[in-house]
Amino acid sequence: MTEPAAAPEIAASRPAAGPAPGTAPAPMPGPAGPVGHIRLTSHPSGGAPMAGATPPVVWGAPDAARRGPIVGTTLNRSHRNVIGTHSGSYGIYRALAVAAGSLKKAHRADLTDTSPTDIIGPHPSWFDAERIVSLDPFGAIVADAFREQIAAGVDIRPTIAVTQAHIELPEVKAAMQAGRMKADGKVLLENGSAVVTKAAIEPVWWLPGVARRFGCSEAALRRSLFEETGGMYPELVTRSDLEVFLPPIGGQTLYILGDPRHLSDPGVTLTCRVHDECNGSDVFGSDICTCRPYLTHAIEECIHGAQKGGVGLIVYSRKEGRALGEVTKFLVYNARKRQVGGDSADKYFLRTECVAGVQDMRFQELMPDTLQWLGIRKIHRLVSMSNVKYDAITRSGIEVVERVSIPEELVPADARVEIEAKLAAGYFSVGEVPGAEKLAQTKGRGLGD
Ligand SMILES: [Zn+2]
Repeated sequence: MTEPAAAPEIAASRPAAGPAPGTAPAPMPGPAGPVGHIRLTSHPSGGAPMAGATPPVVWGAPDAARRGPIVGTTLNRSHRNVIGTHSGSYGIYRALAVAAGSLKKAHRADLTDTSPTDIIGPHPSWFDAERIVSLDPFGAIVADAFREQIAAGVDIRPTIAVTQAHIELPEVKAAMQAGRMKADGKVLLENGSAVVTKAAIEPVWWLPGVARRFGCSEAALRRSLFEETGGMYPELVTRSDLEVFLPPIGGQTLYILGDPRHLSDPGVTLTCRVHDECNGSDVFGSDICTCRPYLTHAIEECIHGAQKGGVGLIVYSRKEGRALGEVTKFLVYNARKRQVGGDSADKYFLRTECVAGVQDMRFQELMPDTLQWLGIRKIHRLVSMSNVKYDAITRSGIEVVERVSIPEELVPADARVEIEAKLAAGYFSVGEVPGAEKLAQTKGRGLGD
């Protein structure tokens, strides 16, 4: 067999020899030329802070000025006061854009006219270090709260954005045609559009508080984050003085039906769903689970609630496939459907555990932070059957009055396996808990069916 023609060119583009053992790698040639040597980790300033350095973050301080900005810029090392970079997982795309020469490393965001369309807070929870540990309560208003530092040249970026939108869902239009829903010209328009305020939230983790939520030491959390990301963030273990980490994960999107100011008023009826991402069902309508039917049912309930003078809230968290990721999820689907006896409710969790090592990696411990950011104290109607979500919400000090389950007719046939398995495992607050016989009898479609 002859060598592919391209092979010599690939080889020629590599350095002739790597650096000698124990020496630093040679400077990487970038689009704009060599960029100097690479520093593997920063060092605490020790003693007097450097001139122009950003003060450490004082999480839970009584006002924004004393809390200080979250600075994850890569433009000036002395300005940084956190571990990691902005934009969650999208920080990697930024790196790609810089490497490819399509983005100037020195670019700073022009925040003109980007301020929130609706004012959220401040609420007492913003100044309580333990009630919010995984987002920056001032993340939407950095342009105002830290105006002076920004004017002085510090690259401070919003981690929360609030805007307005119209959303059109076929399920809502069908409900209007069936006479279940009616346009009111305010929340729901004649053309079937629902009017929403929406907010996007990037994760900002205060490590001491995150560790306490999970009942581990901060040192154990830092070490695990360092090791399980393949050593991606050395400062997790070298900079105990930096307490804030911008993790490379997805955040939350909020959809608010009605007036966002009512969210913090326990006297206004709040309908709420906290939903974990499921791309296959949410977007593509896969029938193996109940995710999209549950989501659209909740949106319908939120619209109804807002039309009656209440307010509705959907919190959408990027935790695909129980936070195991879509590859793992699809592997589990195959394992479920190929096992002896086919897909059955009694083996539902076992198959996930065989592939992933755990049944579920979503951990709802941090989820209530978003509700706390909104100042929520009471949820009148929680559209969820999950005990794990309910427990996390009530543990955070929010009262839940009523739990609303999905109507039976909205459960797809193939999703019965999931529902029965979760009922048996005590996931849900409602519904008859199936016995072993019923679990074994609840079957899903085969792969080829
Ligand atoms: Zn799903």
